[in-house]
Amino acid sequence: MKLTVTSRNKTQFIDITSDIQNKIKAHGIENGLCFVFVPHTTAGITINENADPSVQSDMLNVFNTIIPWKLDYRHLEGNSPAHVKSSLVGASEIIAIENGQLVLGTWQGVYFCEFDGPRTRYVNIKFIKE
Ligand code: ZN
Repeated sequence: MKLTVTSRNKTQFIDITSDIQNKIKAHGIENGLCFVFVPHTTAGITINENADPSVQSDMLNVFNTIIPWKLDYRHLEGNSPAHVKSSLVGASEIIAIENGQLVLGTWQGVYFCEFDGPRTRYVNIKFIKE
């Protein structure tokens, strides 16, 4: 199954935890694993703090600082920084499901990471039942 995610900025972290949780509920998964995969070369998936939104803006600030928009890139499409960020973050996460809930730490959320927006994107989700 897939989620549709619409980004509004060039780079943006979008919390998709509740969207994934809704899919778990809709499919009646009680225990198992949740595999989350982004089929894009300029986006990613990560798990990080969902309490203070400034963590996400700080992370984007770091990414945009260490991977500058202007450099001697050769890729003609002009979005090499987004490709680099995508590989650094990675395209997937695996999260346990217990009693119908994602097993995340108190302050953890699952984020879709947009690195070349704004665009409409997709996130693939697979469940493995225990
Ligand atoms: Zn490209």
